[in-house]
Amino acid sequence: MHPATIRALYRRLKAANPRPRSELEYSSPFELLVAVMLSAHTTDKSVNAATRRLFPRANTPQALLALGVEGVRPYLRSVGLYNTKSQNLIGLCQRLVEHHGGEVPRERAALEALPGVGRKTASIILNIVFGEHEIAVDTHIFRVANRSGLAPGKTPLAVEQGLLARTPPQFKHDAHHWLLLHGRYVCTARAPACPGCLIADLCEYPDKTVSAPSQKTSRGRSDERPAPRARHRRAAAG
Ligand code: SF4
Repeated sequence: MHPATIRALYRRLKAANPRPRSELEYSSPFELLVAVMLSAHTTDKSVNAATRRLFPRANTPQALLALGVEGVRPYLRSVGLYNTKSQNLIGLCQRLVEHHGGEVPRERAALEALPGVGRKTASIILNIVFGEHEIAVDTHIFRVANRSGLAPGKTPLAVEQGLLARTPPQFKHDAHHWLLLHGRYVCTARAPACPGCLIADLCEYPDKTVSAPSQKTSRGRSDERPAPRARHRRAAAG
C-alpha cells in the first residue's frame, strides 16, 4: 500500500474515532494487565463479566494472592480456559510481588516473564499504560492488515513489524485500537461489511462483499489516492 494511502486510511479511522479506547474495563495498570491476560481466546465481554465481580473483591497482586487459585477460580468461570488462567493469575501476582514490588513493570522482558503474558499482552500494556508506540497484533488486526494490504504478513510478528514500519508516527499510539475495532465490528472474519466500510476505496482486498464508492471531501471531490489494484489475492481471508 502506498504511503499516501496509508496516511489517508489512518486519517479516516482517526476522524471516525479520535480517542479510541479498550473495551476492557479497568481502573489501574494492574487491572488492565489482568484483564488483557484473561482476554486471550475469549471475548472482552466475558472478561468484563468476570472482572466486575473479581475486582471489587480483590484488585491488587497482594489481595489476589491471598485468595489463591481456588479463591479466584469461581470468578473466572465466564472466561475461556479459566482453570489455566486462574493458575496464571496467581503466578503473575506472585512474580509481581516478589520481583517488582507489586507494580506493573515497564520493560517488555519483565512483562513477558509473567505467567500468561506473551508478546501481544506486553505490547498492549506498554502502549496503553506507558505510552509506547507498540502495535499489538491480535486476530482482528492480523486480518485487517492482510486484507487491506496495509501490512501483509504470514505471522503476527511479521504483521506487527510491517505495521510499525509503515504507520506514520502520529498514528502509532492509537493504531492498535483503530485496527482492532475495525476488525471486530466492520472487517469481520466471515462477512466483512465492505459496503459501509470507511476505507473501502483504499482497501486492496480483492473479495470485497460489494464494490465500494470512493469517499468525497466536503468540497465534493476525492482527496485520496484512487484504490490500487488488488495484489494480495487470498491473503488472510480470516
Ligand atoms: S473494504 Fe472490506 S475487506 Fe477492506 S477493510 Fe473494509 S471491510 Fe475489510
